[in-house]
Amino acid sequence: MGFVKGLRCRECGKEFPNEPLHVCDMCFGPLEVVYDYQRIREHLNRKVIAKRPHNMWRYKELLPLDGEPTVGLEVGWTPLIRAHNLERYLGAKEIYIKNDAVNHPSLSFKDRVVAVALSKAKEFGFTTVACASTGNLANSVASNAASAGLESFVFIPYDLEETKITGTLIYGSQVIAIRGTYDEVNRLSSEIAGKYGWAFVNINIRPYYAEGSKTFAFELVEQLGWKAPLHIVVPMAGGSLITKIWKAIREMKEVGLIDKFNTKVYGAQATGCAPITTAVKEGRELFKPVRPNTIAKSLAIGNPADGYYAIKAINESGGWAEDVSDEEIIEAMKILARTEGIFTETAGGVTLGVAIKLMQQGKLPKDEPIVISITGNGLKTQEALQGHLDTPLTINAKLDEFDALLKDIKRQKKGASAS
Ligand SMILES: *Cc1c(COP(=O)(O)O)cnc(C)c1O
Ligand SMILES: [Zn+2]
Repeated sequence: MGFVKGLRCRECGKEFPNEPLHVCDMCFGPLEVVYDYQRIREHLNRKVIAKRPHNMWRYKELLPLDGEPTVGLEVGWTPLIRAHNLERYLGAKEIYIKNDAVNHPSLSFKDRVVAVALSKAKEFGFTTVACASTGNLANSVASNAASAGLESFVFIPYDLEETKITGTLIYGSQVIAIRGTYDEVNRLSSEIAGKYGWAFVNINIRPYYAEGSKTFAFELVEQLGWKAPLHIVVPMAGGSLITKIWKAIREMKEVGLIDKFNTKVYGAQATGCAPITTAVKEGRELFKPVRPNTIAKSLAIGNPADGYYAIKAINESGGWAEDVSDEEIIEAMKILARTEGIFTETAGGVTLGVAIKLMQQGKLPKDEPIVISITGNGLKTQEALQGHLDTPLTINAKLDEFDALLKDIKRQKKGASAS
C-alpha cells in the first residue's frame, strides 16, 4: 500500500520527499502530507471499509503510512451517541456526542494521532519517541510506546494535573517536568529534537502525526450513515484537530466517500487561553499569543502551532468560535454527566459550554443537527472539581440512621422544590 506522494509546504507549495521533515526550508511554512487521491478513489469505497474491523485503520488509505500499521491497532471507533436528554435539557432538536473520552488505550483523542505517529516513527527507523504535552499526549505516547517496545521521553509543564502525570509515569516513560508554560516546553523540545534525533511526535514528525486526527471525522461521518455533520463543535489547543476535521470532510468528498457536505466547524477554547477564538471574534486572520490561565490545562496552548489554519478552517466553513470561563466549564461538565452519564475532562466542559453559549447567541441553530466533540476523560482532571460537588453523606452501618437520613433528604428536596 502507501498512497502518499510526499510532503508539501502549506505556504509556498514547495514539495519534499516522504521524510521526517516538518518545516519548509524556503519559507519556514509547515509541511503537509500529500496523497494520490486518484489512486485512493480506485481502492477505497464504503463497501471495502464495511468489511474491515472497527478501528481507525479502516480508513488507512487516507493515513500516511507506507506499510501496515504497527502501533495502536485497536485505537478508534469510539461511540457516537444521540443525546436525547441533553436535547431536552437545552431545548435542541438533534445533538450527537462523539465520545473519545473512551478511546483505547489512554482515554483521549490523542491515541489517534499517536498511533499514526509511532507507526510512522517505526517506518522511519526511530527507536526513541518523545513529545511536548499538555497531558493527554503524554499519556498516549507513554502508553503506546510501552506496548510498541519504544523508548519514550515526555516533556510537560510542571503544574499539570496529578492524574495526568501518574497516567504517564505508570508506563515507565521518562517524564521531564519543565518549570514553564507549554509554549516554553515546546520551544525546549524543538531544540532537543534537533540535537538528539528522536521522533518528537508533535514536532519533527508533526505532518504525519496530525493526520491521525482525521479519523475522528471519518468515523463520525460513517456513524452518521455516511452523512457529513452540519454543525460540529471542536475544542482547540494547538488548533490541529479542528483543521484536520475540516480536511477530512473535504477529502471524503474528494475520494467519493460522500458526494456533498455543508459542514460548519465551530472552535471552542477557555477564556483563560483563547488566542484562536479571540481572533475569530475580532475578524482577524492572525492570532495574538497569550499566557494561559485556565483549569482546561489540556487546551492551554498560548501560541498554537495551527492557530492560523484553525481560523481559516472556521471562516472557510462559515462556522464561528467562542470561549467560556472556568465556572462555565465546570457547569458544562456537570450538565453532560447529569444528562448523558458522560464524565468528560475540562476540555469537554469547554466544548459543551461553548456549544451552549453559541446556541444562546443563535449562532448554532437549535433546530438543526449538532455534533459535540468530547475528546478527553473526566477521571483525569478530578482536581478541577474540588469544592464543586457535594460530599458523600456519611453514617454508621445502622438502618435507623439511614431511615433518619432519608427523611432528611426528602425534606430538603421538598424544601428546594417549594422555594
Ligand atoms: C490535545 C487536545 C485537544 C486539541 O488538540 P489540538 O492541539 O487543537 O489538535 C482537544 N481535547 C483534548 C482533551 C486534548 O488533549
Ligand atoms: Zn514554503
